[in-house]
Amino acid sequence: PQIQARPLIRQLDEAAINRIAAGEVVERPASAVKELVENAIDAGATRIEVAIADGGKTLIRVTDDGCGIAAEDLPLALSRHATSKIDGSDLLNIHSFGFRGEALPSLGAVGRLTITSRTEGDAAEITVAGGAMSAVKPAALSKGTVVELRDLFYATPARLKFLRTDRAENQAITDVVKRLAMAEPFIGFTLVDVSGGDRRVTFRAGAETGDMFDALHGRLRAVLGKEFAENALPIDTERDEFHLTGYAALPTYSRGAAVAQFLFVNGRPVRDKMLLGALRAAYMDVLSRDRHPVAALFIDCDPTLVDVNVHPAKSEVRFRDPGTVRGLIVSGLRHALAEAGHRASTTVAT
Ligand code: ADP
Ligand code: MG
Repeated sequence: PQIQARPLIRQLDEAAINRIAAGEVVERPASAVKELVENAIDAGATRIEVAIADGGKTLIRVTDDGCGIAAEDLPLALSRHATSKIDGSDLLNIHSFGFRGEALPSLGAVGRLTITSRTEGDAAEITVAGGAMSAVKPAALSKGTVVELRDLFYATPARLKFLRTDRAENQAITDVVKRLAMAEPFIGFTLVDVSGGDRRVTFRAGAETGDMFDALHGRLRAVLGKEFAENALPIDTERDEFHLTGYAALPTYSRGAAVAQFLFVNGRPVRDKMLLGALRAAYMDVLSRDRHPVAALFIDCDPTLVDVNVHPAKSEVRFRDPGTVRGLIVSGLRHALAEAGHRASTTVAT
C-alpha cells in the first residue's frame, strides 16, 4: 500500500455542506416543489400558486398568502438548520411539514433562489445563488411570500444530466401538488406551466363552513375524478390512539397497477410499505391478484406515536405500534367493504 502523508481533517464550508444536503432533499424539480408548497401550507396559506417552466428546470415559483417572513428574518430563513417550527428540543412533537430547516438553504445551494415576503411590515427580498447570499432589499408585495427558484441544478451539472424529460418532470410535479392538495381540501391550489401554452390545473378551496368530510370528498373528486368519488366508500374508524379516515373505492373500481393509493400520516403524504401492504391485505379476498385498490386514506395520531424523521424527504414514517395501525386499516376497510356488500369469502386474522 502507498504510504500517504498524514491526512488533514478540515471542516467543510457552509456552501459545500448545503450542496451535500441538497443531494438528499432535492432529488428533482418535484422535490423542490414539495418543499416550497409544504412551507406555504405551514405558513397558514389559503391559496397557493405554483408556476413552473420546462419541467421545473428553469423556473419554479410558489406564491402564497400565508404569514410571511419578516425582513430581518430573511437571511435566517436561508441559513442551515434555522426553523420557526420547532423549538429545537422537541423532535418528538411535530405538527408541521417542516422542522429540519434545510429546504431553503439546500435550494439556494443548487439554484438561483429569490424570496420576496411580507409580514405586517414592508415587503423585502433576498437572493441566494451558488450559496452566496445578497443583502435584504425592499420589495413590493401585498401579502404572503413568493419563492422563486431558477435554473435548478445549474451548479451541479451531474444532477442536471439525470433529470428526465420535461414531460416526465411535469408529471412528477403534478403528482406532488395533487397529493398535497388531497391533504388540504380547505386550501386552493393552482399549478400553471408558463412554458407550455399556460397549461393549468386548479383545485378550488372547500367552502369555509363545510365540514371536513364534504371538503375532502369534493377535493378527491377534483383530484381523482368523478368516477372515484362515485365509487368510494367513506372510512371513519379508530383503534387505540389511531384514527383512520378517507375514502376507499369499491373493488369494482380498481386499477391494473398500484398507482392510485394515497396514504397520509398526520396530513403528510407518505409511501410506506407497511401501510400499502395493509391496504392490499384489506382487499385480498375481494380483488383478483392482478387488480389494485384505489384509496385515499388518512391516519391521524398523536405526533409522538410516529417518527417522521426517518429520511430527509420525510416520505417514510415509523410507527411506534405498526401492528395496531395495520389492524386498523385492514379491519376498517373490510368492515366498510362488507357493509357495501363485498364480504370476504374467508376471514383472515388481522
Ligand atoms: P423548515 O420548513 O424545515 O423550517 P425551510 O428551509 O423550508 O425549513 O424554511 C426555513 C424557515 O423559513 C421556516 O421555518 C419558516 O420560518 C420560513 N419560511 C419558509 N417558507 C415560508 C413561507 N412560504 N411563508 C412563511 N415562512 C416561510
Ligand atoms: Mg420547509
